[in-house]
Amino acid sequence: MKILVLPGDGIGPEITEATLAVLDRANAKFKLGLEWQMMDIGLKTLKSQGTTLPDAVMDAARKAPGIILGPVDHLQYPDREKGGINPSGELRVKLDLFANIRPAKSRMGVGLTGKPVDLVIFRECTEGFYADRNMFMGRGEFMPTPDVALAVRKVTARQCERITRVAFDWARQRRRKVTAVHKANVFHISDGLFLREVRKVAKEYPDVELDEKIVDAMAALLVRDPSRFDCIVTGNMFGDILSDEASEISGSLGLAGSTMAGDDACCAQAQHGSAPDIAGQDKANPTSLILSAAMLLEWLAARHKRPEFDKAAKAIDSAIDAALQSPDTRTPDLKGKLGTKAFGKHIAAAIG
Ligand code: NAD
Repeated sequence: MKILVLPGDGIGPEITEATLAVLDRANAKFKLGLEWQMMDIGLKTLKSQGTTLPDAVMDAARKAPGIILGPVDHLQYPDREKGGINPSGELRVKLDLFANIRPAKSRMGVGLTGKPVDLVIFRECTEGFYADRNMFMGRGEFMPTPDVALAVRKVTARQCERITRVAFDWARQRRRKVTAVHKANVFHISDGLFLREVRKVAKEYPDVELDEKIVDAMAALLVRDPSRFDCIVTGNMFGDILSDEASEISGSLGLAGSTMAGDDACCAQAQHGSAPDIAGQDKANPTSLILSAAMLLEWLAARHKRPEFDKAAKAIDSAIDAALQSPDTRTPDLKGKLGTKAFGKHIAAAIG
């Protein structure tokens, strides 16, 4: 099975190298039969090929059984017409990777607020306000005059239903509670549609509790008492913001695994960005991408009925938990001593 690996920009190549060191070990130990197809994207190919996402990469992505995507520095990208395509947005739309699944777990006992965190955010990631992907043709934001900017938010019943279903299915494997996060007090129509679909799906899961929260209150409640949340379902922008908050509260943005998945494809993607402020310094925490890759292994296990992929994912997860117990085996964002490369080697060795 050949996994497509796209290291991306900034800290992307460093954390990808550390992730592959771990996966290579898991591959050998659990006889997964994985191979890596490495391809460049981002600022590197913008320079060499005039685009941040070459056609050959999209073709490979369509064929790949799974993808590992490093973070991309799309704030630096030029307009699409000049070659600046956001690879994650494009992959989400073209491969129908509508479900961005973002767990946040305090792996060192408690998180930054002194309280334990163990929740998963389910974020619809192909529509909402995200102008780079929410239109079939053209973009979801524009300027009718030089001093007026408009952004269009897209919400469809189909995507609301699909993401809600994913959240409820996961809840059945967890603590059987789903919190739907919205702003229907202001967006009566669009978030009203979201809530309509959530409530409809919830009726099919009488064994799972449904709770509803307005997004601003939710931001405060996550800090006050994260333990009251299990699975959180929401739209694109609220999910993007709340998942960074939840991960940071759990210990660090560098700890958060994430996949974007559809019915037929899955992409492991670190939750954080390309961290240009620490790129090239061997300081980045690769845990997010390593845990994302472990989530991809779980997805492949279910998809291809390969239990050894699940075993490998669990071994990676346990090795990360064990390493985070001591400052000697943490990265600098967690006041630890290990660099990116050394952390990857440590986790690989811990897998055995
Ligand atoms: P960021 O997530 O890159 O960084 C925010 C802060 O967290 C920085 O101080 C950074 O050093 C720190 N940080 C992030 N990841 C870390 C890690 N693994 N280890 C240790 N510290 C880490 O956010 P930003 O600086 O606002 O964005 C930089 C670029 O990334 C922008 O171009 C943005 O558009 C892009 N971005 C990409 C993705 C993605 O590819 N999925 C997601 C978010 C942002």
